[in-house]
Amino acid sequence: MSDTFRDKLPNPPAVIFRQPPNLRSLLVRAKLPNHSGGEIKGCFKTHSAQCVTCTSLKETKWVRSFSTGQKFNTFHSITCCTQGVVYLVNCLDCKKQYVGETGGELRIRHRGHRQEFRKANTPLGKHFQSCSNFELIGVEKVHNNSKTTREAVELKWIYRLNSFAPVGLNVKDATCSL
Ligand SMILES: [Zn+2]
Ligand SMILES: [Zn+2]
Repeated sequence: MSDTFRDKLPNPPAVIFRQPPNLRSLLVRAKLPNHSGGEIKGCFKTHSAQCVTCTSLKETKWVRSFSTGQKFNTFHSITCCTQGVVYLVNCLDCKKQYVGETGGELRIRHRGHRQEFRKANTPLGKHFQSCSNFELIGVEKVHNNSKTTREAVELKWIYRLNSFAPVGLNVKDATCSL
């Protein structure tokens, strides 16, 4: 406890367990970095402009459904080099969302996206013939990285974000994941 803090308390030993909730939560939060010891939550850029994926990546710790407005926190640390990822593509032009999964690195999957954009050979690729502004967000890391688990997690996020067509860009029974 700092001296300045102690000075503000009229009677330190008596009030120590009766701190106002906001002050108490501040103190608890201040300790977290020392005790969590694990990954920093959220989706992060790790490269500068020469990484095409990092350029499109949105740094965030939460995602929002464009159709329902519901917000969801994310709990894993994800970069363009993370393997086994469920990700979100937000179309910023028409506010439609696409949830996908990949077993490989997110940046390799995003190379595939850019190919789809060029060839218009998938629902996602076709969509970005008319729209052009998007952001990419790594939403959840699938730790065991099995296809079955990735697809289950992908489906969970599709339902959470309500991203099935026509509201969103996911098409039932048609995945365009690697
Ligand atoms: Zn990168
Ligand atoms: Zn669009």
